[in-house]
Amino acid sequence: MVSTILIGMLCAHLLCFSAMFFLISKRLHGNKMGMDFFAVGNLLLGSAYALQFAEGGPAWSWMSVANHTLTLVAPVAYWLGAMRFFGRSVPLWRPLLAMAGAYTVAQLLVQWGFGPVSRYAMLSGMSALLFLVMTITVIYGVLTFARDLYGEMIFFAVLISGICILNAIKFVNLLGTGLDALRMGGSFQLVFYVYMSFLATVLPPSIIWLVLRRLTDELRNVAARDPLTKLLNRRRLTEALQRHFRSRTAASAYLVMADVDHFKRVNDRYGHHAGDLVLCRVADVLRTHVHEGDLTVRTGGEEFVVVCMNTDVDEVTHLAERLRTVIENTATVVEGIDHPLHCTITLGISNAFKSADALTAALKEADAALYDGKSAGRNRVKVAGAALGKVAA
Ligand code: GH3
Ligand code: MG
Ligand code: MG
Repeated sequence: MVSTILIGMLCAHLLCFSAMFFLISKRLHGNKMGMDFFAVGNLLLGSAYALQFAEGGPAWSWMSVANHTLTLVAPVAYWLGAMRFFGRSVPLWRPLLAMAGAYTVAQLLVQWGFGPVSRYAMLSGMSALLFLVMTITVIYGVLTFARDLYGEMIFFAVLISGICILNAIKFVNLLGTGLDALRMGGSFQLVFYVYMSFLATVLPPSIIWLVLRRLTDELRNVAARDPLTKLLNRRRLTEALQRHFRSRTAASAYLVMADVDHFKRVNDRYGHHAGDLVLCRVADVLRTHVHEGDLTVRTGGEEFVVVCMNTDVDEVTHLAERLRTVIENTATVVEGIDHPLHCTITLGISNAFKSADALTAALKEADAALYDGKSAGRNRVKVAGAALGKVAA
């Protein structure tokens, strides 16, 4: 009786979440993050339990064959959905149909060749194997492509390994006691379905949490970055500096302000689009040449800021000089323009500063040094007055 209620609840839960995943996938234009696949997975598993519910106990019927096939194929849909979530472009229907066809044929052969116990044992054994592979994949994910979701992935690995172990036990029970192992009143079956209900209760909200996390991360990223160059924007600079200086080991930082020389001419001569490409090229050079942990920001128009952490004025001056020469020697190829575009930048370096509150002062100092560089003829590096005295000869 309890098992019957559990299966009924499980079935309703899976089908409701299938509808919800489907609706969410409709709202996610473009990257659906695997939600459409998860909807199919839930629908297949929900249908499998509905068939089991209608059937009552072990039997040899088309419902039972369909139930087994759906039970085995549903986790594959989840697996493919997870791959979609992590950005792999995998198909859904072809692998599912191939697996469903192959497993249905296998069931018929095993039933006729070895009898019903073997067919039920095959389902438990195959499920245990499938969940084992899934657990290993999730653990691999924790170590490689899903490191940012460490906690969530460990949680999934524990849940999936649980269902793997239960299927392995069911497999052994079936081989030992035959179809008796599937008696609905039996204590193992109760544990099995209680665990499945627990999974069906916990997994769908966890999947929704993952999607929500990805979406909010993406939103935060969009809000923090300049849409043209993908560098940080000014607002994020303040936040990142506050975070950096909260660390007790944080040493002083230097701010380097860079401004493209005569950039207006690029726009006037070659058009705004060519100007945009030059800005992206400058941004690429800054991004690839700064040290790890430094901040690269587009503060406006053709002005950029690099904040160098844990360094000294000699090293910052050296870096600024390198950025200047690399940009001087970098060409931007623009479609429709018969020669590559070149540009130069002038850079101003602030004094050392040790708190996020000092950002405004550092910006002013770097701006004044930059202005000196512009006045002196552009394409050069200038260091703010106080820091200048510390540059090695
Ligand atoms: P200077 O050497 O003194 O810095 O001269 P400049 O021409 O670089 O400076 P100015 O401030 O006179 O011109 C900056 C130009 O940058 C004006 C503006 O139209 C252009 N600009 C600002 N933002 C963008 C952008 O996103 N894309 C493009 N293509 N141009 C931009
Ligand atoms: Mg300029
Ligand atoms: Mg400017």
